[in-house]
Parts: sequence; C-alpha cells; structure tokens
Amino acid sequence: MRMQTDDEQFLQRHADKLSALSVLLLPWYAQNKRDLPWRATRDPYCIFISEIMLQQTRVGAVIGYYNRFTELFPTVRALAQADDDTLLKAWEGLGYYSRARNAKRAAIAVCTDYGGQFPDTAEQLATLPGIGAYTAGAVASIAFDRRCAAVDGNVLRILARVLERKTPDTPAYRKALTNALSAVYPAERCGDFTQSFMDLGSAICLPTRPLCALCPLQSVCDAYAHNTADTLPVRKQKTARKQENLTVFVLRHKNRVAVRKRPDSGLLAGLWELPNVLGHLSPDQALSAVSGYATSLNGSFTVRQCKHVFTHIQWNMLVYDFAADEECDSFTWIHTQKNTAGALPTAFSKCL
Ligand code: SF4
Repeated sequence: MRMQTDDEQFLQRHADKLSALSVLLLPWYAQNKRDLPWRATRDPYCIFISEIMLQQTRVGAVIGYYNRFTELFPTVRALAQADDDTLLKAWEGLGYYSRARNAKRAAIAVCTDYGGQFPDTAEQLATLPGIGAYTAGAVASIAFDRRCAAVDGNVLRILARVLERKTPDTPAYRKALTNALSAVYPAERCGDFTQSFMDLGSAICLPTRPLCALCPLQSVCDAYAHNTADTLPVRKQKTARKQENLTVFVLRHKNRVAVRKRPDSGLLAGLWELPNVLGHLSPDQALSAVSGYATSLNGSFTVRQCKHVFTHIQWNMLVYDFAADEECDSFTWIHTQKNTAGALPTAFSKCL
C-alpha cells in the first residue's frame, strides 16, 4: 500500500471540516450567488469560454468580452474555424493572448477527436490544449455535474484559512487538495459547490481584510477562531520580475501608425507590435535606427517613458514618437482610433 504524503495526512486530519463545507456553503450560495451570463447555461462550450477568460482576469472585465465572443463564435465549431486575426481582435485588451489561441486549439481537438461534443470528465478535458486541472475541474463540475474540484487561488486561500495551513502551497499540495475536496463534492450540486468557492472568495474571504462576520464558514474556520486570517495563506518568496528595456518607435502618418507582426513564438506571439529594439537608445541612436526603416521623417519627435508588466517580465519602454511624411511599404499602417488590422496588445497601444 502507498504511504500517504504529508499533504495527504494534513488533509486527512481535517476531513471533518472538508465534509462540512458543502452543508455550509450551498445555502449561502443559493442566497448570494452572482448573476453572470455564463451561469444561465449548462452549455460546456460557453462554460469553457468563461473559464478561459476568467483566468487572471476580473469577472467585471470578462462579462462584455464573453457576451461579444459567444455572439461572434456561438459554437465550438465556429471557434474551431475562426480566422486568427478575427479571434485575436475579439480578445484584444483582455491580455494573455495565448489563452485565445489555446481555446481555438482545444475547439479543434473537440471537433476532430470528440465529434464536436465536449468530453464530460475532468481527465479527458485535461487532455485538451491549454486546459489544466483547474479548468478541467470547473467545466466538468459545472457543465456535467461531475465530482471534480477546481482548485484555484480562491480555494487555496479559503482552505488555507479554514484549515489554518501555515505552509506555502505546492503543486503536490494542490493535487492532494483537489483529490480530498473532490471526495466531499455533493451529488447533483457539483457546479454550485465549485461556484460557491468563487463567490465566497470574491465577496467574503477576500485576500486582505476578509469579512469573517458575514462568512458561512465561520463555525469551522480555524483562522477565524485564532484570529490569523490576515496572515494566511503563507506565500512563497517571490522571485524578482525580470526587467527588460526597450526602445519603441511610434511612426505616425496622419491618423495611422506603423506596425508589424511579432514572431510566431514567444511573448505576444504572432500579434502586431510597434517597431522596437532592445535597450534604451539616445535620441541620435533612435534617429539613426529609424532612418534604417526607410521612412521619410519630417524631423521632429517627442520622447516619453511607458512601462508594461507581464507575469514574469516588465518592459520599461522609451517611446520615440515621429511624424512620417509618407507610409513606407516595410510596415502595415493602422488607424490609431479604429484598429482594423488586428489585435495590438495593450503593451503597445499604451505607447500611443
Ligand atoms: Fe475566510 Fe473569515 Fe470565512 Fe474563515 S471565517 S473562511 S477567514 S472569511
């Protein structure tokens, strides 16, 4: 027989608390659940899209995108056949564009491997491109009422407090928690149970200053009993975000600016970008670099600084803004107000 890991033993010791969660959370959820467009359907495609959009993004920012996206691509087949520029344009401003590409790849896999029907278990869902354990658990529990936990930051935070766990979470702990929580999922209310954690995490058990007085889990919460909620969860020490200096060129002609496509792999792969080079150039160096683009300039320019923070890297951008006398062929020229050429990522649109 396999020995239990320390994480499994920890969760086993708290089995009674885990078992009590659904009894306490479901009545609260029935009274307090948020009215969200993807909660009006059990269509796994719509739930899948909402979950992909909600990764790293606030609910309030997602609602409009979700409505427009599901109108533009109403079925998994429509997404599988989506033109890449239209897809990225629909995602423009939401960030983390690899999510859109992976959603399309998953849609293609659903159409080719499953006849256009989403598989209904977390195990099969997790084999689709871009779907991790959390999204697989969320879609399986919400769309198919499967007893599969969806462990994200909300669940980790709430349970770190309820169980007063004083150790930072690890992938192994997350997996052990997914198994332990799946075992206490209530039959026929799986989707509600998953979503009750989402709503409790966003309204009550907040990252800072949790509203314990209003919390349905107060009676089983060790952090509440010992007044330690503000110190939990214990975080791993963060590694410093990499800093990268860029010089970005805004080449304007009338209401249009020059853009080009980024490489097909790496950060912001395949998206449009403003011309740029690594490092911070002096005005003389910038003028010399821009003359290499064969754009006829009228001499004047402005310079400013901009920064953009990605998950693991920060761009510190020195932006030179030139007026061009004509539109040279080496770039695509897009309208600055109505960007019809496709998705210009926020990192660059903020330079305009
Ligand atoms: Fe979070 Fe407080 Fe509720 Fe405990 S009682 S789960 S710390 S809000």
